[in-house]
Amino acid sequence: MNSQRSVVICGGGIIGLCSAYYLARAGFRVTVLERKADGADSCAQGSAGYISPSHVIPLASPGMVWKGFKWMFSSRSPFYIQPRLDGELLRWGWLFARHCNQAHVRRAAPVLRDLCLVGRKLFVELADITGDAFELKTEGLMNLCKTQEALDHEAGGLAALANELGVEARVLNAGQTSALEPGTKIDVAGSVYFPIDAHLTPRKFMPALTSLLKEMGVKFHWNTSVYGWHAEGGRIAAVHSTAGNIHADEYVLTGGSWSPAMLEGLKIRLPMQAGKGYSLTLAQPRFQLTKSLLLKERRVAVTPMGNQLRFGGTMEISGINERIRPERVQQIIDAVPHYLPEFNAQDFSGIEPWSGLRPVSPDGLPYLGRFRGHRNLTAACGHAMLGVSMAPSTGQLVSEILLGRKPSIDLALLNPDRFA
Ligand SMILES: Cc1cc2nc3c(=O)[nH]c(=O)nc-3n(C[C@H](O)[C@H](O)[C@H](O)COP(=O)(O)OP(=O)(O)OC[C@H]3O[C@@H](n4cnc5c(N)ncnc54)[C@H](O)[C@@H]3O)c2cc1C
Repeated sequence: MNSQRSVVICGGGIIGLCSAYYLARAGFRVTVLERKADGADSCAQGSAGYISPSHVIPLASPGMVWKGFKWMFSSRSPFYIQPRLDGELLRWGWLFARHCNQAHVRRAAPVLRDLCLVGRKLFVELADITGDAFELKTEGLMNLCKTQEALDHEAGGLAALANELGVEARVLNAGQTSALEPGTKIDVAGSVYFPIDAHLTPRKFMPALTSLLKEMGVKFHWNTSVYGWHAEGGRIAAVHSTAGNIHADEYVLTGGSWSPAMLEGLKIRLPMQAGKGYSLTLAQPRFQLTKSLLLKERRVAVTPMGNQLRFGGTMEISGINERIRPERVQQIIDAVPHYLPEFNAQDFSGIEPWSGLRPVSPDGLPYLGRFRGHRNLTAACGHAMLGVSMAPSTGQLVSEILLGRKPSIDLALLNPDRFA
């Protein structure tokens, strides 16, 4: 046990809450600071809820520079970078381009796999502990390919790499795909099925974990913003927050897309862009699925959550703002009937779109580890499209780091000072 040491978690999204959980379990006195009311609007809440060991290819991968450049001129594309003159964005873009190669994919894929596989295992444990409070489903994920060209590409690329890394990927034809998902008609050339993938209902997970943390004695300061630090002799002595200066032995940065701004005053550079995504949730879908689907060419995720059905997607690099762009939401709605012809635009009429900001590092890997210049400050942010999948493994690794144990996953590639 470690009951003497205190830790402040700066940001109460899914990474902050999971870090709090594994630290409290390890015996730390944990306080969470969250600038919003009760964490009800963090990025995970409106996410697709995938737990995805299948996502072994980082966003920074071959072909993405050209695609990003081409898509920059279309605000309806799945990945959209709003052109603007901003030094941080230019540097991020330059670093991103440098990582769009096969060598980086080869290095990053085993780390992403391990973070997601451990995450999945820990979600199963958490489901057990909370009495299945968050509707964990372990039926797998199907990447639906509308065209044969996309299916061949998926089979030779992602499926081959996943199988090589021990993540089972089955290439299915149209008939086999429909047989695996009897919930609605599917009109595709085929799919790649990943049986190990799972999904959950994020709007149930976050409150369930918060209740569990309160029972474990974790303190929450809601409506509390971090705005600075008191640093002394290579360590943090206190965090300045709107609830006053808070002193602790250890500090964990879990501010998602806001993490770089939260570091202001510490002279730490943490390249990150907010990747906005949208989701639409049907409360009473006319057809319900048994497993989660990815509409591959259009990059739209479809996830059954209890009785509800959620459609989410798009990646929009347009700075930190919550502005909803109707043309990007429409792009999600338009994609659906191409793959699932029993759905139509009417299904979405009157549905309020949700938006959230993914914290996207330029190499597609999270920042996880102690900062060189401030040894009691640990980064746990930058999980991009996989923050739900990796939240429990990240939390467990944060506790291993703070306990001074050898991390159970090699963190060399995740060093938060790698771009300093
Ligand atoms: C449409 C969409 C679909 C997605 N689908 C999936 C999926 O299926 N599977 C998956 O694995 N991932 C998915 N993701 C990604 C995932 O949701 C994110 O990676 C993850 O939620 C990031 O969590 P976080 O805790 O790092 O950040 P956040 O959720 O952004 O949490 C950071 C918290 O810090 C708080 N904060 C900010 N500034 C301050 C401050 N100054 N002081 C105090 N608190 C502060 C914020 O209010 C926020 O609550 C999806 C994302 C989107 C947008």
